[in-house]
Amino acid sequence: MEVRSCRSCRRLFNYLGGPPLCPACRDELEKTFFTVKEYIRNNPHATIRDVADANEVSVNQIQQWVREERLQFSSDSGVALQCEKCGAKIYTGRYCDKCKAGLANGLTKAFSDDKKHAEPKKKEKDGNKMRFLKK
Ligand SMILES: [Zn+2]
Ligand SMILES: [Zn+2]
Repeated sequence: MEVRSCRSCRRLFNYLGGPPLCPACRDELEKTFFTVKEYIRNNPHATIRDVADANEVSVNQIQQWVREERLQFSSDSGVALQCEKCGAKIYTGRYCDKCKAGLANGLTKAFSDDKKHAEPKKKEKDGNKMRFLKK
């Protein structure tokens, strides 16, 4: 068992993975998350800075929640997040919808291309073999 000191209150606790926070601070952070979520719902035009100041949370923490898609800003909030792939304006997560769809399509496309390439070749081979055996 690994013992660490809590990043927030410096108390020692049994570390089980994730952010280095003791259970009490973790609960506290979760409570803060809901407060922040509520605040954004009530203040749809607030910027990340406003939200951070009003809730005494770090800008980094808010950005982390946004990247995890736990928080979403509205399109008129003035919060400018950028898609990590194409730089388009987004309001939650790390990629825009287009890139997200592209990433998913890219995977299925590569998979079906593989199948297309692999199957005819195999049939051809078998066909040749059969012909060869018949001769
Ligand atoms: Zn703590
Ligand atoms: Zn994008």
